[in-house]
Amino acid sequence: MGTDIRVHQVYAGRVLQGPGARAVVPDEVERLGSQRVLVVATPSAAEVAQDLATALGERYAATFGRPVQHTPVEVTAEALALAGEVRADALVAIGGGSAIGLSKALAIRTGMPQVAVPTTYAGSEATPVLGETEDGVKTTRRDPAFAPGTVVYDPDLTLSMPRGLTLTSALNALAHAVEALWDSGASAATRAYGVESADGILAALPVVLDRPSDVVARGRLQEAAWLAGACLAQAQMGLHHQLAHVLGGSFGLPHAELHALLLPHVMRFNLVASPDAAARLARVANGDPTLAVASLAAQHEGPTTLDALGLPRTALREVAERVAADPYPNPRPVTADAVEELLLAAWRGELVR
Ligand code: NAD
Repeated sequence: MGTDIRVHQVYAGRVLQGPGARAVVPDEVERLGSQRVLVVATPSAAEVAQDLATALGERYAATFGRPVQHTPVEVTAEALALAGEVRADALVAIGGGSAIGLSKALAIRTGMPQVAVPTTYAGSEATPVLGETEDGVKTTRRDPAFAPGTVVYDPDLTLSMPRGLTLTSALNALAHAVEALWDSGASAATRAYGVESADGILAALPVVLDRPSDVVARGRLQEAAWLAGACLAQAQMGLHHQLAHVLGGSFGLPHAELHALLLPHVMRFNLVASPDAAARLARVANGDPTLAVASLAAQHEGPTTLDALGLPRTALREVAERVAADPYPNPRPVTADAVEELLLAAWRGELVR
């Protein structure tokens, strides 16, 4: 295809949103013609999953309640055995990226339709992507069949998110939007999603951090996270996601915290090379967007540096060399020295001027 031709591919077929929206899940399952639902639920959503089981009545088959980050294939095998035992014919995933990842892994192996009910801001429900781990090696595949056909966004389900998860998960979402904005191949629609998403996160996150039970602000944040997930699906991710992928995959660092602490450093590095993204983000941030994100990231009560996250100083050069050897598309050229400098700043927690 010519390099001037942009593709805009939309994934989730049907999105339902609003406080209490989880109540529509049984109707959505009926719409799919399913008789035997396997619920995949994160442990934090056990009670919601139990209520759903009751509401599903005869259409409820079983619950698998132990999804694991990065979708290890042995966990998928266990859930697959349960799906076979109970003759499941549809999946409802309630949880963050881990529950939704497991649902995708089951869907691709069985052809079952999926209803995703996200409880974090990670955005996996909006993407045709799955990362799976086998023998400690993570491989990522892309296939439209991974994308859940129905997504139900109920902000009530985010009220239980602890402050730290709220903050880091929202910045994880913001990273999808920011990378879409500096992807020179992104479509106009994707850029629009990126701007609306960044605007929503920067406006709603401070309110939610102040008043965690504000369902209206939670709803805005969740909506912004939906659009961020769509950015992840539709745009090419650059240096930020590559660093998160290498550091998360090779050193087992926690997904959302890693994204949150890296983001201001990658923005400082890339925005000088992407004036268009810088201008759009400055408008929604009402000032320097890197400083706005850095100040949000600094409010995390957990680890805010690579050092505090447990990465040894000696790993920085190796990571920088791996990234620079085969860089993701990025607005600014990626060299090992530049990446090492960026990582050192993130390791120390000092934003380069
Ligand atoms: P997660 O799903 O692993 O959840 C993190 C923790 O938060 C868990 O202990 C969970 O029980 C808890 N939790 C979730 N929702 C909660 C809530 N509302 N209240 C209280 N606790 C809650 O974390 P995540 O960041 O959502 O997802 C990370 C995983 O998703 C990684 O494996 C990542 O690779 C994957 N991911 C994939 C994509 C994709 O497009 N394929 C996109 C984003 C993330």
